[in-house]
Amino acid sequence: MRGASRMNANASHSDGLGAGAAAALSSMLVHLPFRADCHSPRPMPRFRFHDELNDLLRPDLRDCIFEWPCAERATAKHAIEALGVPHTEVGRVLVDGHPAGLGHLLRETDSLEVFPAAPSDLAADAPPPRFLADGDGRIVLSRDRGLLEHRRVTHGRYVRARDTDGQLREVVARFGLRERARPFTRCLECNGLLRDAGRDEVADRLPPRVASEQSGFTLCTGCGRVYWPGSHWRRLRAVVDAVLGEGRERAAPDLCG
Ligand SMILES: [Zn+2]
Repeated sequence: MRGASRMNANASHSDGLGAGAAAALSSMLVHLPFRADCHSPRPMPRFRFHDELNDLLRPDLRDCIFEWPCAERATAKHAIEALGVPHTEVGRVLVDGHPAGLGHLLRETDSLEVFPAAPSDLAADAPPPRFLADGDGRIVLSRDRGLLEHRRVTHGRYVRARDTDGQLREVVARFGLRERARPFTRCLECNGLLRDAGRDEVADRLPPRVASEQSGFTLCTGCGRVYWPGSHWRRLRAVVDAVLGEGRERAAPDLCG
C-alpha cells in the first residue's frame, strides 16, 4: 500500500526508528479509518501541511492530503494542535483556497492547507526577539508542545533539534541572529551588561592564581560578578565560533569566567 511504504521510508530515515518500530507503525496504518484513500462513512475536513510543519506530524500524515475527524464546533486551531502542530508554528491557513484564521469553525467539507510561520511573519508585528516567557509578546523556545499551545504564547518555536549545540544553531538560523548576536556581553547570573574592568578594581574578588595569570576582566554592572577568559570561556568560545562563524567581527569583550 502506497501510504505504508512511504511511512516506512520516513520511519527509517527521519525518525531513526528501528525495523521493529517501523513494522509496528506499518501494521497500525492498516487500521487507520481516516486516510484519504480509505472509504469513510461521512465527509471529514481534509488537511495538507506544508514544508517543515510535516516534522511535527505523525509519519503517516506527512506530505499528503488526509482526512481527520473533528469535534463539533472545533476550530482550525483545535484541529491543527490535535495533530501535533502548536499554533505558534503556523503562518497561514487556507480553507478551500481562501485565507482563514485559526478561529475558523471547521465544516465537514473544508479543505485546509496549513503553512509554516516565516521569520517575516514575526518581523511584521513582533518586537525584537527576546527569549523569556514573561507574557509580553516575547518568543518562547520550547520542545514542550503543550506549552506552545497556550493561548498567551503569541510567538514561539518548537525547537526540532535535541542536542544543545544543534538547538543553538537552529535558533540562530531561524531568527537570523548570526549578525545580531553579541556573545559574552551579558552576565550569566543576572543578564546584566558587562563592562571592562582593570585588575586593581576586581583584585579583591579574584583567586590568587587568576589575579597573577590574567590581565583582562569584565565586571557585571548588575550583580558585580567578575569574568575572565579561563578554560570555561575557551570551551564556550569554540561553540560560539562554530555557530556564528569564526570570521565574524567581535563587537564586544570576549570574556567570561
Ligand atoms: Zn550579573
